[in-house]
This record gives sequence, C-alpha cells and structure tokens, in this order.
Amino acid sequence: MPHSDDFLAVHDPAAARAVVHEPGTENGRWWGFAVVLAAGLFVLCALTWLVSVQRGISTLQQTTATRADRYAATLESTLDRYEFLPALVSLHPFVRGLLESPGDPARVAAANHYLAEVNRRAHASATYVIAANGIALAASNHGQPGSFVGTDYRFRPYFQIAARGELGRFYAIGITSDEPGYYIAQPVEAAGKVIGVTVVKLNLEWFQRAGGGSAEPLMVSDDHGVIFLSSVPEWQYRTLRPLPPELHAQLGETRQYHDRDVSPLPLEPLTSPVTRWLASTTLDEGARLVRVRSNDPAPDGSERADRYLELGRKVGPAGWTMQVMAPLDPVLANARNATVAAALAYACICLLLVNWRQRRQRARDMLYSRRLLEAAYDELERRVEERTADLMAINEQLEAEVAERTRAESELRAAQDELVQASKLAALGQMAAGITHELNQPLAALRTFSDNTRVLLERGQLAAAEGNLTAIADLTERMGKITGQLKLFAGKARPLRRPVALRAAVDHVLALLAPRLGTVTVSVTGLDALPALAVRADELKLEQVLLNLLGNALDAIAAAAPAQGHIGLDVQAEGQAVTIVVRDNGTGIALEALPRLFEPFFTTKETGQGLGLGLAISSSIVREFGGQLSVANVPGGGAQFTLVLARAPAIDPAPTVSASQ
Ligand code: ADP
Repeated sequence: MPHSDDFLAVHDPAAARAVVHEPGTENGRWWGFAVVLAAGLFVLCALTWLVSVQRGISTLQQTTATRADRYAATLESTLDRYEFLPALVSLHPFVRGLLESPGDPARVAAANHYLAEVNRRAHASATYVIAANGIALAASNHGQPGSFVGTDYRFRPYFQIAARGELGRFYAIGITSDEPGYYIAQPVEAAGKVIGVTVVKLNLEWFQRAGGGSAEPLMVSDDHGVIFLSSVPEWQYRTLRPLPPELHAQLGETRQYHDRDVSPLPLEPLTSPVTRWLASTTLDEGARLVRVRSNDPAPDGSERADRYLELGRKVGPAGWTMQVMAPLDPVLANARNATVAAALAYACICLLLVNWRQRRQRARDMLYSRRLLEAAYDELERRVEERTADLMAINEQLEAEVAERTRAESELRAAQDELVQASKLAALGQMAAGITHELNQPLAALRTFSDNTRVLLERGQLAAAEGNLTAIADLTERMGKITGQLKLFAGKARPLRRPVALRAAVDHVLALLAPRLGTVTVSVTGLDALPALAVRADELKLEQVLLNLLGNALDAIAAAAPAQGHIGLDVQAEGQAVTIVVRDNGTGIALEALPRLFEPFFTTKETGQGLGLGLAISSSIVREFGGQLSVANVPGGGAQFTLVLARAPAIDPAPTVSASQ
C-alpha cells in the first residue's frame, strides 16, 4: 500500500493549492472576521441606541408639549376668571360703605355677609377687605376660627402694590390659615385716593393635584424661581436656582412662604456630549434634558438621580413659569430594549454568517478531500494496472513453468517406470542365487526321483513308480510356482488402486524371501487378529515395497551380524488407516544418511550390491497409493520403516491362503 502522502504528491498540485488553506492564515482570517463582527455589533448597538433615544425624546417632547400647553391653558383661564373678582367686589356699595365708615358694626356685618356670599359662589378660598391702614375690616371667613378680620396686612406685597393703586398679584402661604394661595388685590379708590383694598385668595392646589395623576411631574415657579406648586411634594418650596441673600431676606420679611425652608432643588442639565448632541438635534426652544438628584438613595446605596425632559411654559401674569418634567427612563428603557433586540438580531445574522462560512469551508474541505480521493483513486488504479500487468507476466511465466514441469514430470514418470523395471531386474539378479538354490533342490530331487522311477519300472514296481511320479509332479508344480511369481514380479506395473489382502501380500513376500532368511527370524504381529484386512494399493507394487523393506532389513542384519538377526513386521489398523512397521536389529542408519535415504541412487552399499533405487521407488509407489513411508532408528540398534496406507473393505482370506500354498 502506498502511503497517503504519495497521493498528495501525485495529484494536481495547482488544484490542491487552490483549495488548501494554511491553518495560520485561516486562524487569522477568523480573527479578522470576528473583529469586524464585533465592531459591527458595537456600531449597530450605538446607532440603534442613539436613534431610539432620539426618536423617543422627539415623541416624548411632542406628547409632553401638548400636555404642557393644556395645563398652561387651564391655569391661565382659571387665573383670568378670577382676575376681575376683587374689582367687582370693590365696586359693591357694602364694601365702599364699610371703607367709608369702618367702625359701623352694621356695615361690617353687611360687608361680611356679602363677602361670604361672593366667596361661596365664586369657589374662592377667601375674600376680604383691608382698610388703607392694612387692617382687615371684613372677610368671608368672619366669625370662624382663623378669621382674617383684624389681621394686619401691611407687610404683604400684594397689599403694598394695591395701596399704590395697582393690581396686586401674589402667591404665598397664608399667615393666619397657613394655607397656600394666590392673592389678587384690587385698590378701592375714592377721590383719587386709595381708601382700601379688596383681596380674593384662590387655592391652586387642585392644579398640582391635576399633574400628580400623570407620570410627568408638574411644577410652577415664580419670577424668583421658587417652586410654589408641584405635583411632587418634595419639590414644593424649593428653588430652581440659588436665591441671592437679599431676596432671602425679602422672603422672610414678606413671610411669603411662611416658615418653609426655601432651598435649591438639585436640578441640573445633562451635559455629556451625547446628551448635548441629542438636545441640539431633537429639542425645541424651552426644552432641555435635566437630572434631579433625589434625597432617597437607590436600593444599592448609590445616589439616585432621575432624568427628565423638561418643558417650560410662561403662565400667569406675574412672570411665572410652568415646567412639565417627562421622565426619560421609559425612553431609555425602550432604547435599551431596541438595542438588545438589534444586538440579538445581529447575533442571529452573525451566527447565520458564521454558519454559512463554516458550510462553505466544509464544502471546500470536502472538495479538497474529494480531489485527494480522486487522485488517490487514480494512483491506485494506475498501480493496480501496473501490478496486474506484472502479475499477468508472472502468471504467463508460471504457466510456462507449469507446462515445463508437467513435461518434466511426465518424462520423470516415464524414467521412474523404467527405473522400477530396472530395479525389479536388479532385485531379480539379487535373488538369482536364492532362486537357483530353490530350483536346484527340486531339480536334484527330480533327477533322483526319475532315476529311482526308471529302476522301479525296470523292476516292475509300478505302485512305487507311480508314487515317485506323483512326487515329481508336485515338485514341478512347486518350481512352476516359483518361476510364475518371478514372472509376475518382473512384469510391468499397472497403475491400479484396489483392495489388496494384506495377509496374502505379506505371505507372498515372505515366501519369495524365504531362501535369503537363513538364521534370521521374522515375526509377523497384528495380522492374525485381522485376517481379512485389506489396503488400497496395487498388489504387485505393494509386494515390491515390502520386498524392498524386508530385503534392506536382511542386508542391514547381515552387515551388523548380530547374535540373532530378527525382523519384526507389525500391522495395526486404526480407523481408515493401516500402519505397517518393519523393524530390524541391523546396523541402523547413520544420522547424516537419514535425510537422504529416499533420494534416488543414494546407497551405502558397495558397487554392484545396491543401486540406491529401492527406497526412492518404494516411497513414490506409496505416494501413488495416497500413503506415507517414513524411517527412524530404533533405540538399541536397528532401523524401523513405517508404512501408512488407506484401509480398504475386508477381503475373504480363503482364496489368497490357497494361492500362497
Ligand atoms: P540399496 O539397497 O540399493 O542401497 P535402497 O534405496 O533400498 O538402495 O537403500 C538405500 C540405503 O538405505 C541403503 O544403501 C542403506 O544404507 C540404507 N538402508 C535401507 N534400509 C536399511 C535398513 N533396514 N537398515 C540400515 N540401512 C538401511
């Protein structure tokens, strides 16, 4: 497998560069993007806040102006309505009569009665008549506790103004009643001289209550800036600006505000650049943004200051000013809400933007990955093609080799068959001596029997001669069997695999080898219990293998010359396998010879005695049967050959036994 970097190396580098982003650059871009977004957020919040505040103030100014105009008109009309009441009263004969004869109790009573009636009908606070010397002669509240009758009013400015022949207007707290009110004083003249003053006192507190219901505090201040009417009780009798000391002294003299402590109200205009900009762009003439510090601290202990839009209106005849104070907090709260909403909307847009950017990035990454993959795939395909071509070449080579091997194998097989034949012939040669011995014996017997028979025939002993002839026939049959077996052995092998009775094969081989055994004993074990045991093989070839193993054993015993030569042939059947072990007590096999034992032409025997083909042919035959042939040394001396063959269905032993006889 090629390393993945190989793919990077092979695909189009220009295309890769187009989509690859260095991590550092990418981080920097993200930072830049974040800074731009943050700056955008700041600018948006600032603009939203400013625009909201500006619009809020503008709207507030409009509504407050309408309200201020209405309040001002109401107050003006009230004052106008009462302006002429003292003049009317002064014209009445009862009043004039009283001023002409102040000591007449009847006139006093008539005037008192008249004044009470007028006061009741006009809904004024009090109506009274003051003599030129400043002492009240008659009053609408005569006979009541706190009546004005007899009170000296010389120090009151409205009296002083009226005494000069002018209309006196004055707002003050009553010295007798301690109730605040608006005093209108009218001089009463006779023969060009002021003989008295008629006064109407109005209670204007309804006006401050009218403002108290609304959220906007209302206040009316006099020409000195003293707030004498206010819907906020704490602001009443405070001043809009500090009073000069002489004015303070004057207030004390006139007892205008009785014993009230007239101190400045902590009201100041807002002066920050933003508020100045807002005021210059939004506010009309007479309007301003102010702050009133409160005596009560905020819940967290800090100083509290309420912010207002202040709208002023001139009211009344005496240089009064009315201020309507519209709180700015709702405007600021609205602006805050709008800012938060804008920030949230902006955040949503930012999130969408970031999301979009990330998607785009992901799409780019995917494109890059896909290109890499395509490149890798192309590379892989190229390599697969290369490998396939290599493999095909190797395959062709292998096929040629296989053909060569097959040809060599068939040649080898042919050579092997030839060798088997040669080996058989060699074995025949080896056995020649034994066979000669085997045949010589019956031949000598035959000669003897035939000589004897001729003698017996000459003597006429026919019965004895017949017996000899029978013996001769037996002997020739036996000799025929020997040569027949030789013929069988020498014949070309047929490559067959069929059930072969093991007992018969062993017996046959032992019979063939009998002439060579001499003093060597052969013990066959395991076969008695399995007389019908059969293996899958070719009868002749199996016998050839056994003959070779037993022949080698005899050779080894002969070479070692032990006290008693012995060959053991043990047969075991287990499942579908039959194991035949041929063990001898001969020389055993040298360790270096063991691995080469089955090689063709490997022999330790002297020239002429061994070809070194026996075991090679035997093992090839056994393989042909689908079996195995192996060798090992026996502890204590000697060798052991193990032959494993496939078991075949049992074969009735009877005919084989008779054939071997
Ligand atoms: P040959 O018998 O012609 O030498 P083989 O292939 O039959 O050829 O045997 C090869 C060699 O194996 C023999 O030369 C011998 O050294 C050794 N050999 C075979 N069987 C035995 C045995 N039972 N004991 C000792 N050596 C053996």
